[in-house]
Amino acid sequence: MPSKTSAFASMSATSPLGPHSIERRDPGASDVQIEILYCGVCHSDLHTARAEWPDVFFPVVPGHEIVGRVTKVGREVTLFKAGDLAAVGCMVDSCRGCRSCESGREQYCEKEIRFTYNSPDPHFPGLMTYGGYSKSIVVDERFVLRIPGKSELSAVAPLLCAGITMYSPLKHWGAGRGKKVGIVGLGGLGHMGVKISHALGAHTVMFTTTPSKGEDARRLGADEVVISKDENAMAKHAGSFDFILNTVAAPHHLDAYVDLLRADATLSLVGVPATQHPSITVTKLISKRRAIAGSMIGGIQETQEMLDFCAARGIVSDVEVIPIQKINEAYERMLRSDVRYRFVIDMASLGN
Ligand code: NAP
Ligand code: ZN
Repeated sequence: MPSKTSAFASMSATSPLGPHSIERRDPGASDVQIEILYCGVCHSDLHTARAEWPDVFFPVVPGHEIVGRVTKVGREVTLFKAGDLAAVGCMVDSCRGCRSCESGREQYCEKEIRFTYNSPDPHFPGLMTYGGYSKSIVVDERFVLRIPGKSELSAVAPLLCAGITMYSPLKHWGAGRGKKVGIVGLGGLGHMGVKISHALGAHTVMFTTTPSKGEDARRLGADEVVISKDENAMAKHAGSFDFILNTVAAPHHLDAYVDLLRADATLSLVGVPATQHPSITVTKLISKRRAIAGSMIGGIQETQEMLDFCAARGIVSDVEVIPIQKINEAYERMLRSDVRYRFVIDMASLGN
């Protein structure tokens, strides 16, 4: 028997989020039922709730940085039991059989990736999956993460999207000792990027449009800070980077960052703006065999590796905890780059 769960939802692209009731399935044999304690607020939540991306179906219950406590498990579940802490990120299932899934890169599933929200939900035909702005969630144990260590839970939640979205490309493109790495945009993703790049041992340079964030960037682990609107400051770094990871959520000129790459270096994009970036100048790529690439979150095993990596080094997110009733205000502040550096919803505020 499915059970009613209170949630916060966006009912159309133009309406604010408000209280809503959804159904969650009773846990099946391999399912874990989790009472959600905290949920981080990602810019992707805003893009989806306002239908800035295609294929959004309402109501939308956003939220994919979920931490909570297990309340019930199915009879075949071996990794979790009632009372354990558990976490869920951006995916709740995938085909499990394609080359991507078999190699632990479920985020690049070739057949059918199921995101935590706004994906068709086979358990409720005709409805979409609903995310973490809710009291509880039921997820197959293969897509549930363990929370190691004793860190403050609200500050762990953003690792489930912001953390892994930075960790995966930093590892893939070899950020580490002896490498010069740039992180563009000091928001939810960017602040985790600086922390993780620094922890990996890379010489880390923060690019920000907001001069007042400079001091914070150094505290978070940046060796240098560049105000990206300052052309002279940018020019000093021409041709010097091994890797640049760009998190900006708005369209902007990428040439300015391509110029900063060494030969054979890569600029990887993770921001998904609602409209496209202006076209790049191809000769800047050709003349130095530079690459522009993209990256999406990370695989399940890699997400666990990232949680363990962060726990071992005491890395968490810098958060501002809010009651869910402040979510619309938080979205407006996020748009003004006024978040230091991730909003996290205390789900106790949702009531029953
Ligand atoms: P966020 O907290 O709003 O941070 C974005 C940062 O970009 C801002 O803090 C700001 O930093 C900078 N910025 C914003 N507008 C800008 C502009 N017009 N020009 C230059 N810089 C600007 O957002 P987020 O949660 O980190 O997410 C960032 C993007 O990544 C979103 O598009 C989101 O959907 C996407 N995302 C992708 C993945 C993936 O797997 N690829 C995963 C999660 C999120 P400064 O003030 O420092 O300039
Ligand atoms: Zn996200």
